[in-house]
Amino acid sequence: MDIFRPDIYQKSIYSINYQKLKKAGIKCLIFDLDNTIAPKQMEIPDQKILNFFGELDEMGFYLAIISNASKKRVTPFKEKCNINSAYHAFKPSKKKYLKVMDLYHVKDIEVACIGDQLLTDVFGANKLQLTSILVNPINENEMFLTKINRFFEKKIIKKLTKKGLFKKGVYYD
Ligand SMILES: [Mg+2]
Repeated sequence: MDIFRPDIYQKSIYSINYQKLKKAGIKCLIFDLDNTIAPKQMEIPDQKILNFFGELDEMGFYLAIISNASKKRVTPFKEKCNINSAYHAFKPSKKKYLKVMDLYHVKDIEVACIGDQLLTDVFGANKLQLTSILVNPINENEMFLTKINRFFEKKIIKKLTKKGLFKKGVYYD
């Protein structure tokens, strides 16, 4: 069960304390795309997202997007945000995470992964002992496969809550 527990839980990508992560030795941030950075219906990143990644870049973080979505979906974000990105990543598969770590020459303790799903984003990060950060999904407009994942996610959250390990809306970092 603990493999699904995020190390950090925040409302959105904008409420994460990146200064604190930096001080803790995090050098690389890996983001999920859908419902983490942008809602599904946003095809091109807006100015807020561009500014956000600009700031993280200025802070000196290595940045990457790892998404289970298609090339067509990921490419505008990869290009406009100018960020190394992987599509069809099959998270929680370790493959793309390892590729990013290899690219930036970073160790597990230097990587934090931000996403909105326990079964893909948090599980994938925890398997590799990377810092896992869960954020709330931006909205309820989701792909069919995600809807299936949410069904199981609800059961996991119930168990975690019972054990006193996680509660929806109770943020921590
Ligand atoms: Mg997502």
